[in-house]
Amino acid sequence: MNYDNDNIFAKILRGDIPCFKVFEDEHTLAFMDIMPQAEGHTLVIPKFAAETILDIPADQLIHTMTTVQKVVSALKSTLGVDGVILMQLNGSAAGQSVPHLHFHLIPTHLSNLKRHGSEQGDMDKIKALAEKISAAL
Ligand code: AMP
Repeated sequence: MNYDNDNIFAKILRGDIPCFKVFEDEHTLAFMDIMPQAEGHTLVIPKFAAETILDIPADQLIHTMTTVQKVVSALKSTLGVDGVILMQLNGSAAGQSVPHLHFHLIPTHLSNLKRHGSEQGDMDKIKALAEKISAAL
């Protein structure tokens, strides 16, 4: 694997650029997607430097999925949605645009779903949602 240390999520992990953090532990970080497909669209990433799901050791993947499960629960309880879509793209051929492994958590009613990464959201609204979800974690 040829991991790009300058990808945007590596910069977020280093604190070089900001994010709307909702959860962090020793192995993972969860933060708001700033171009949400639906209200509350959240990303969960491992701190381990992996580009795709094939590049991460199983124990680190388990830590990541444990955080995914926690955040899905917080999204359901804080946003009152019926469902949360979990999406994860491997490789540019699959539509992956940021080369650091990440899981999309998209609370939604399917009729409201936008294409991901297409339209910047309302930053004040995203920040407020991050605080609300974070408080449930
Ligand atoms: P993917 O196409 O699966 O690689 O998804 C990358 C996601 O990262 C997209 O949904 C983007 O909206 C999101 N994104 C890109 N830059 C940032 C950023 N600085 N902070 C939060 N989300 C971002």
